[in-house]
Amino acid sequence: MFEKILIANRGEIALRIHRACREMGIRTVAIHSTADADAMHVRLADEAICIGPPAPAKSYLNAHAILSAATISNAEAIHPGYGFLSENADFAQMVEEHGFVFIGPSPDHIRLMGDKIVARTTAKEAGLPVVPGSPGAVESLAEAGTIAAAIGYPVLVKASAGGGGRGMRVADTADDLQTAFEQARKEAENSFGNPEVYIEKYLRTPRHIEVQILADAHGNVVHLGERDCSLQRRHQKFLEEAPSPALNDVQRAEIGRIAADAARKIGYRSLGTMEFLYENGEFYFIEMNTRLQVEHPVTEMISGLDLVREMIRVAAGAPLGFAQEDIRFTGHSIECRINAENPVTFLPCPGRVGDYHAPGGLGVRVDSALYAGYTVPPYYDSMIAKLIVYGTNRNECLMRLRRALEEFVIDGLETTIPLHQRLLAEPDFINGEYDNRWLERFVGGQ
Ligand code: ADP
Repeated sequence: MFEKILIANRGEIALRIHRACREMGIRTVAIHSTADADAMHVRLADEAICIGPPAPAKSYLNAHAILSAATISNAEAIHPGYGFLSENADFAQMVEEHGFVFIGPSPDHIRLMGDKIVARTTAKEAGLPVVPGSPGAVESLAEAGTIAAAIGYPVLVKASAGGGGRGMRVADTADDLQTAFEQARKEAENSFGNPEVYIEKYLRTPRHIEVQILADAHGNVVHLGERDCSLQRRHQKFLEEAPSPALNDVQRAEIGRIAADAARKIGYRSLGTMEFLYENGEFYFIEMNTRLQVEHPVTEMISGLDLVREMIRVAAGAPLGFAQEDIRFTGHSIECRINAENPVTFLPCPGRVGDYHAPGGLGVRVDSALYAGYTVPPYYDSMIAKLIVYGTNRNECLMRLRRALEEFVIDGLETTIPLHQRLLAEPDFINGEYDNRWLERFVGGQ
């Protein structure tokens, strides 16, 4: 096992990785920008190295500075967390070329899944159902028209280099296609420097259901069940739960098996997530995330596994310590993302935290790097805490979540806690009846 790991991230996820390392007896090296000198991940790590000024491009995205920090601290491996460089294949390759272990999949797998057209083709070949659409890139408006007519409107024009919901345009009818095609190409060119687009059937009321998989370097692959992440705003997840209220045990086992088989076929190693749209009883693969995800704790709560520890173990070459039939899912878990944002306008609200009190008690977990007196810097993501609750069933989980949200005190900042509280009073949410566009309708109508 590794003796020392460098954590190439900040905030709650840097802390989460640090905690797994401590429990495994691994020393940690934190990196930080000048804006994060008094951050919690810096305070708790065994060593900390300042790698640059506040702007992410000069610090947390600065591969050379991170590799220098790994060299001078004698770290053996680098955990990228999520966001920043976690899905950057060139970075993963540089890490390996410099003699460190990248705690994640191989650079080739990151590259494969980073291009959406290639990912779609790969997924299809590996036996995953995909959304009906163009076989590859669509070069001209005429070609787009032929394909759209064949699959039927509405269609979605998507950037092959896409991410974060950018470079995506819906065409409801043939009359909208020209505008959608041109706008998606333009946005793709501006955002990603690559105008290539493809076409998919646009599903009107899908749910976002994703399957967690875990694979070692010896061909062993398991799935760890699904998460329902349909509650999103502007393609940003807001609340996640496991298991999905929309699936029964048979559907759950089936999609899990299909996802694990696909991961095995492509020779994947590490943690990964297959994302699907689910509508009218059918699953459609949309993408694979080749990293640890924000919402991984809900899977940990119902499976009893420490996913970060497992990720580190397989990166060190250890075989999985269990088979699919050893994994037992019990109870229900929900995660609320708490952002430093106005809960109505969603404008970021960085600033100094006054009083701080995190909820506790049976089944309550808070993953956060906040403390009283800490100043949330304006340069990074606005998520400041994750409240994760476990219950023996969904109803108990909801009751506990209401209680925990009531206890949470974060003075001095506006947060999304009041919106979570309103959500928890909604009959649709209580009954588990929501789709990907439910939250937008809910906040739009307030
Ligand atoms: P990104 O990488 O930009 O997040 P995704 O392909 O994961 O792009 O899609 C983001 C979100 O857009 C999905 O969670 C879903 O809400 C919506 N979406 C993507 N493809 C479709 C589709 N074919 N039909 C309906 N909604 C879609």
